[in-house]
Amino acid sequence: MKDIKSLIRTNIQKLKPYSSARDEYSGAEAVFLDANENPFNAPYNRYPDPYQRKLKAEISKIKGVPEDAIFLGNGSDEPIDLLYRVFCEPGVDNVVMIDPSYGMYQVAADINNVEIRKVLLTDDFQLDVDALLKACDEKSKLLFICSPNNPTGNCFQQDDMLTLIEGFEGIVVLDEAYIDFAPDQSLLKKIQDYPNLVVLQTFSKAWGMAGIRLGMAFASVDIITVLSHVKYPYNINMLTQQKAFELIQNVQQKEEWVDLLIKERKLLVDKLKAFNFIYKIYPTDSNFILVKAKEARVIYDFLVDKQVIIRDRSKVVLCDDCLRITVGAPSENEELLSKLKAYEATL
Ligand SMILES: *Cc1c(COP(=O)(O)O)cnc(C)c1O
Repeated sequence: MKDIKSLIRTNIQKLKPYSSARDEYSGAEAVFLDANENPFNAPYNRYPDPYQRKLKAEISKIKGVPEDAIFLGNGSDEPIDLLYRVFCEPGVDNVVMIDPSYGMYQVAADINNVEIRKVLLTDDFQLDVDALLKACDEKSKLLFICSPNNPTGNCFQQDDMLTLIEGFEGIVVLDEAYIDFAPDQSLLKKIQDYPNLVVLQTFSKAWGMAGIRLGMAFASVDIITVLSHVKYPYNINMLTQQKAFELIQNVQQKEEWVDLLIKERKLLVDKLKAFNFIYKIYPTDSNFILVKAKEARVIYDFLVDKQVIIRDRSKVVLCDDCLRITVGAPSENEELLSKLKAYEATL
């Protein structure tokens, strides 16, 4: 593995980051006449903490990682974009991703004018480790893995992921957006052993907070520091910081939701098996189920017409005729099943 600092674009290495009023003085009790804020309309008149210290202290406790190993972004999308901007010279460097996987890796590559190399998963949706390493060259800065993977739903073998982390010369970005729903252990703690590993997690799925936009990146201090130099100074607004702080106190609530959704997932899988227009239900470690169906688009349209919306993934590589179904509340899953029965009756 190369030294992390040497992987950073030269302009970013040289960057003198913006220094905000709250950077220069961050004490709590004072007469604040330094940031040109309006003195009225407290507490919203004040700029939020640019480093989200209170929130990070809580996240640090829950996740068992030090605060300086945590970066918070406006959704996971923000650290994804920032990783490109920090490590990839537009028109020169490249990144490698698995295919099929989350669409944002490609969109962020296109926005940043960075070549993206896609390596197909194996037929059973596992990592093709040799092909991934072969796709890399000295200009490959990032390697995106997503486990459990979207849209396939499964976890990858940990040995394979570790082989990639050890064998890749750049930064491995492991997206664990769905890890709470998986039986497999998170690789979060491995950031201690591998300074080139970035683990992404989010408050959008298991925590039920997609609306407040809060994503987490965990990594070595070198990476976290450079991400915070490049982000907008006040990237996480006050309302999001407060709401996340409040909800995070109730880890048990999140765990109850996860347990319930895993039970519902199993029920849904069992019941979906009964439909003979569903050919295959892929194993899932996430809060959604990928199924292969006869005339996927027709089923999708039928359900839309009945106001049940699932995701048509039939045009995605290795996912011909596939539909992706999010596990909902019990009543929503019942609704889906009853509409599928209605569809069956039309055949
Ligand atoms: C949903 C999802 C996320 C979460 O994105 P946010 O911007 O944090 O809402 C990240 N990665 C994958 C693969 C996802 O499916």
